[in-house]
Amino acid sequence: MDLRDSPREASFREEARTWLAKHVTGEYAELGGRGGAGDQTFALDVRLRWERELADAGWTCLGWPVEAGGRGATIAEQVIWNEEYVRAGAPGRVGVIGEGLIGPTIIHYGTDEQKARFLPPIREGTELWCQGYSEPNAGSDLANVQTRAVLDGGEWVITGQKVWTSLAQQSDWCFVVCRTEPGSARHRGLSYLLVPMDQPGIEVRPIQQLTATSEFNETFFDGARTARENVLGQEGDGWTVALATLAFERGVAMLGHLLSFRRELDRLVTEARRRGRLDEAVVRQSLARAYADLEVMRYNTLRSLSGLDGPAAPPEASISKLYWGSWHRGLGELAVDILGMEATVLEGPPYELDEWQRTFLFSRADTIYGGSNEIQRNIIGERVLGLPAEPKVRPATRSRTPEERTA
Ligand SMILES: Cc1cc2nc3c(=O)[nH]c(=O)nc-3n(C[C@H](O)[C@H](O)[C@H](O)COP(=O)(O)OP(=O)(O)OC[C@H]3O[C@@H](n4cnc5c(N)ncnc54)[C@H](O)[C@@H]3O)c2cc1C
Repeated sequence: MDLRDSPREASFREEARTWLAKHVTGEYAELGGRGGAGDQTFALDVRLRWERELADAGWTCLGWPVEAGGRGATIAEQVIWNEEYVRAGAPGRVGVIGEGLIGPTIIHYGTDEQKARFLPPIREGTELWCQGYSEPNAGSDLANVQTRAVLDGGEWVITGQKVWTSLAQQSDWCFVVCRTEPGSARHRGLSYLLVPMDQPGIEVRPIQQLTATSEFNETFFDGARTARENVLGQEGDGWTVALATLAFERGVAMLGHLLSFRRELDRLVTEARRRGRLDEAVVRQSLARAYADLEVMRYNTLRSLSGLDGPAAPPEASISKLYWGSWHRGLGELAVDILGMEATVLEGPPYELDEWQRTFLFSRADTIYGGSNEIQRNIIGERVLGLPAEPKVRPATRSRTPEERTA
């Protein structure tokens, strides 16, 4: 793959750069690029206005096909857009779950009616989405989902609890994996429902995180309702659809992450220079290593995404998730090393975390969400390397009494 801009890509880059230079001004420029992972509740109003400004000019959902309302941008064009976006210091995007996860899943599995209903508001930044997968006893083991949905006339009635639902408090819709076939087990009998959040049957309780903010929540469903036609894919085959969303999460949506990582690394180098820490060989080596690893990750992602037209295949998606989660957690640790003792104190009232403290604390989650490192290693071990499957835990059986044994 040729990584230089073709004439068409060069003109696309020019168009993106010019538009961003003209629009990342005033209140948008003042945000200094904030609002990314771990900082998503920051200046939400301003970022929502920005989202609509992007949409009006056709700069959301670039990678979606033209008939779905996107630009049909190639992977190279999406990379260019993200590069220019980061370079311009534009605000962290609000609609990432809609644009990167549920949008592509609806494009892939939705009916024409579902596409017409749900895609335009995602593209226009007027409807936000959250992901209702995890439950108290179904995280890594997602097939253990217990939230139930039963049909009542023309509607699904949903009862159960989800947890760690990012941005549920600001979302209009949630895609919820539910058990719709009573008595079914594991990945059979699940359905993937699209559920409106603003209704009496749903209660969202924010969870306070290490960072003192509350990006994620507990979400309780107590007789929540959605129309029967709001099932994505086949009834009872929600597992297939749920896996596709995970593959999107671990695939193209990655590109945005990589570029914001580059911005963070550049700022950390500046910070180390400002503190005179670049004189130390160990600090220089660690920063150089972080840079080299980030480049490896970038080329690997580009290679695995080129020519892709749908969810990334599980092995590539897992390698990418394992690599970036570990890299970013390592960057948080490196930032704390560079800051030294200062990393452990807050400035003074209102005692807010600074950028590096926030990065360090939030990046502890990078190796958990979207599938933990251990789970990615299991997938790579079993499906890429062909290692024996991990032993399944069987329910304990009662051991025989001595009398039974001699009988
Ligand atoms: C910041 C953040 C945002 C999130 N946002 C969302 C969201 O919007 N929607 C949503 O549905 N979920 C969300 N999650 C939940 C996330 O998907 C789960 O936390 C993740 O899947 C792990 O599940 P768990 O927390 O239940 O941990 P568990 O599954 O209980 O795992 C606990 C530990 O055991 C390890 N483990 C588990 N099984 C195995 C195994 N078979 N082999 C080896 N090790 C194993 C895990 O790696 C982990 O270290 C979010 C999580 C975080 C941290």
